[in-house]
Amino acid sequence: MKTIHTPVLIVGGAGCGLSLAIFLARLGVESWLVERYPTTSPAPKAHFLNQRTMEILREEGLADEIYSLSTPAENMSRVGWYTSLGGTGELDRKTIYVMDAFGGGSLQEAYERDSPVRSANYAQLHLEPLLLKHARTLPAAKLNYHHALQSFTQNDDGVVATILNRDDDTTYEVHARYMIAADGGRTVGPALGIEMDGMERLFDMVTCHFAADVSAYIDDDSPMIRWFINPEKGGSWGSGVMVALGPKHYDRHSEEWLLHFAFQPDDPEQFDAESVVPRLQDLLRLPDLEPRVIRMNNWKVQGVLAREYRRGRIFLAGDAAHRHPPTTGLGLNSAIQDAHNLAWKLAAVLQGKAGEALLETYETERRPVAARNVNWALLTFQNHLVIDAGIGLIPGAPVEVNRQAFRLLFSDTPEGVTRRQRLSEVANTQRMEFQAHDVEIGFHYDSAAIVPDGTPAPVQSPMGDEYIPVTRPGHRLPHAWVYQGANKVSTLDLVGRGRFTLLTGGADTWRDAAAQATQATGTSIAVVSIGPGGDYTDPSGTWAALRGTSATGAVLVRPDGHVGWRAANGEDTGSLAATLAQILQPITQDH
Ligand SMILES: Cc1cc2nc3c(=O)[nH]c(=O)nc-3n(C[C@H](O)[C@H](O)[C@H](O)COP(=O)(O)OP(=O)(O)OC[C@H]3O[C@@H](n4cnc5c(N)ncnc54)[C@H](O)[C@@H]3O)c2cc1C
Repeated sequence: MKTIHTPVLIVGGAGCGLSLAIFLARLGVESWLVERYPTTSPAPKAHFLNQRTMEILREEGLADEIYSLSTPAENMSRVGWYTSLGGTGELDRKTIYVMDAFGGGSLQEAYERDSPVRSANYAQLHLEPLLLKHARTLPAAKLNYHHALQSFTQNDDGVVATILNRDDDTTYEVHARYMIAADGGRTVGPALGIEMDGMERLFDMVTCHFAADVSAYIDDDSPMIRWFINPEKGGSWGSGVMVALGPKHYDRHSEEWLLHFAFQPDDPEQFDAESVVPRLQDLLRLPDLEPRVIRMNNWKVQGVLAREYRRGRIFLAGDAAHRHPPTTGLGLNSAIQDAHNLAWKLAAVLQGKAGEALLETYETERRPVAARNVNWALLTFQNHLVIDAGIGLIPGAPVEVNRQAFRLLFSDTPEGVTRRQRLSEVANTQRMEFQAHDVEIGFHYDSAAIVPDGTPAPVQSPMGDEYIPVTRPGHRLPHAWVYQGANKVSTLDLVGRGRFTLLTGGADTWRDAAAQATQATGTSIAVVSIGPGGDYTDPSGTWAALRGTSATGAVLVRPDGHVGWRAANGEDTGSLAATLAQILQPITQDH
């Protein structure tokens, strides 16, 4: 039997697996990726890429292409709730509520202050081919589509996997030092018996990807997401959610759309493609609309988290490790961010620069973030029922009762004013989903690969919307614009790219300390000075206000852009070598 030897076997060639192959290749690590289907998935799934993910993709040089192909900022600045798109009834075509979202409108200033990039809206069914195209330019990423993992064993030295080449029905063996299950939880986790905690089946959903011209029925191009709630369908989850999918226009003229419908798990209609078009026409109140259904996707809304992220030499990442409701759009984003956390650690260990224990910190760092994300997505999913209550809808009530609630809501009476004010206060709680700025970029790590400085984490914003930038160890390095002559760069551009970076006010003693640390550990540290006479200037003083150290201090940033350590002032130069060694050879409990 043919045998392939590779440092890393990646199972799954979707968002997580492809990102990991790209990140590893950039770090000089070869991987062998197997994906059981011949292409990336054409199924309509995720579309929202938050600022942290876009920062990571920007580092890969992919952000500009994504922005040029995806939703313009002005078409993703709000979300809206409506009764219907069409119809001439007294309650048709009404706007229930509209909210700023994703860094648009009133949020723009804060989002632009805190990141060099905006969030993006680019369907996963387009993003994955783009990632694949990029991965194909990287020779270290060995991509094998239509190859399926069949079975595997592991020992102290590595993993031996049997792969079926589905093109010619032959099998071969892959011998890998590590195997990463980026398989959406379909194969490896269940085979290892790794338990998933949480709720496996909250709702069944059908997502319909269709082409239709609905431009005549839309008069506001700013919302990225449109919810349809009408009295006949009960509340939010009895209705539907619509998103423009482009690919040429992302405003009212969008050629394609997604519509998500919720079904009770025992409703057989969800598997009936024939029932979807009438349901869509009914929901939108467009009985004459003749959509061309491109694809349907039946999926379960879950909220589950793997009890373990690692078993021996096998790691779970992305949906294999956590699956959440789509609300807040954290699934694909977390999958890419898992890969980003794991890639530099695998590279450091495989290249002999770090001890095996560094890999333990993948679970210690990413699992708590996923636990919060799962709960957050569940909370924001459930909160749509709060909006229904804000409208005055009563679950299970006769249609006429709910119609009356809508009539009163829209009425030109003092009660209507009060009801609209109530709705506005209640619906504003959904900023947990659409303005989740702190959830998206404010998460932090606490592990043996972070050297704490004893300061407490800032108090988390209860609604997940207010991000506080800090250089406290464990947090993502805050963004500030700094200058080299007329050239403006983000502090995030100075770090990453597989290196440790020391940001300092400019003292030569830090350069000497970095050289010694490099000599002691074999890992180089790039030293970048920001301040008067430094490599970069900070004319607005933004970085000086954020850096959390004196001008002579320093911030050590790990290759993933998270702060590993900081020194209040120049007296701490002597600690740098030991600190770097501590991050690379962390003392953790054996797994
Ligand atoms: C309707 C919908 C809307 C969503 N909206 C958002 C959103 O806006 N933002 C967001 O961040 N997330 C969203 N999500 C979630 C997001 O789609 C997932 O979190 C994401 O796809 C996870 O990526 P992954 O690579 O980890 O897993 P998957 O996409 O599940 O990919 C796993 C891959 O592994 C392959 N595989 C499995 N077993 C084997 C095997 N034995 N051998 C070889 N290959 C194998 C599969 O074929 C598959 O291609 C949404 C999901 C849905 C369904």
